[in-house]
Amino acid sequence: MEKPKIAFYWCASCGGCEEAVVDLAEDILAVTEKADIVFWPVAMDFKRSDVEQMADKEIRVSFINGAVRLSEQEEMVHLLRRKSQLIVAFGACAQMGGIPGLANAVSRDEIINYYYHSGPMLVNPEQTEPQPEYVEQKLGFDLPVFYERVRALDQVVEVDYYLPGCAPTPGIIAAAVFTLLSGELPPKGSVLASSKSLCEECELNSTKPDEGIRIKQFKRPPEVDRIDPNQCLLVQGLICLGPVTRGGCGALCIKGNMPCTGCFGPLDGVRDFGATALSFIASLVDSNDPEEIERILNRGIPDPLGAFYLYSLPKSMLYGRINGKTAPEDMRDTAIEHQ
Ligand code: SF4
Ligand code: SF4
Repeated sequence: MEKPKIAFYWCASCGGCEEAVVDLAEDILAVTEKADIVFWPVAMDFKRSDVEQMADKEIRVSFINGAVRLSEQEEMVHLLRRKSQLIVAFGACAQMGGIPGLANAVSRDEIINYYYHSGPMLVNPEQTEPQPEYVEQKLGFDLPVFYERVRALDQVVEVDYYLPGCAPTPGIIAAAVFTLLSGELPPKGSVLASSKSLCEECELNSTKPDEGIRIKQFKRPPEVDRIDPNQCLLVQGLICLGPVTRGGCGALCIKGNMPCTGCFGPLDGVRDFGATALSFIASLVDSNDPEEIERILNRGIPDPLGAFYLYSLPKSMLYGRINGKTAPEDMRDTAIEHQ
């Protein structure tokens, strides 16, 4: 019997999600026993034309990582959507926009201006900028168009499932692949990881004080002489987002003495991860004096965007700024025509 076909593709990402698939190690053999990988540009020599020649819905599942910023990425995810029965947003960038999504805090023009005209290390005497089309001696070249904003995958095409993490761990990748190939599909739109918070699987959860956590001084890891590996990091004043983050990673960062930055994203039903994280952390401040509260927050959290929206700015209610202004309401949802 013919095996189901699966595909992997990457958009705006660092490559960590591709590494995570490679990290399946010998489990990748179990995957290829059950399915044929028909497209995986980072590892195998298939071309876009191979996908174009497939029948619609011929691929059982496409796993797409990375956010969408370029016209080429947009074209590819539309193509894979047409050719696939299921699309999985693979990793934090596809799910929420990820770290590339922080670029929505500035406009496209500001980025181009910095990197091609005003950056301190720049040498660009002719003040050139990348052009989508270039012709010289009758030979033409195309470059993808760099869009105004970064979008999560479901702001471009319909997504069936989400695999969280920066990057997803081999355990949840293998479980997701086998679940989706089994035919016993979870409800559409499910996030394929724990539905409980990270704290529930963290060994330090039992070290939280019964009377609750109150914090006078937030600290970043380099500001702590010695992080106690046996006490909840939040109790030590480190901004650990475990209480508002979906579990499933096995508390990887905590085991490395680093606080959780929230890469597994929000729990079910949360509209805006960053707003939830911010409001949770603010609720821990140990003061009723407005001036002291301001001092505690300003001193301890100098970069609130990075602290709370590290992975989720494009999916937030803020959505990001365009030319110094918050994007208007009608530009915050599925938005190909708004590019
Ligand atoms: S806040 Fe962080 S360190 Fe504390 S229990 Fe939760 S995940 Fe573990
Ligand atoms: S501890 Fe937090 S940031 Fe680290 S891998 Fe897990 S969910 Fe991601």
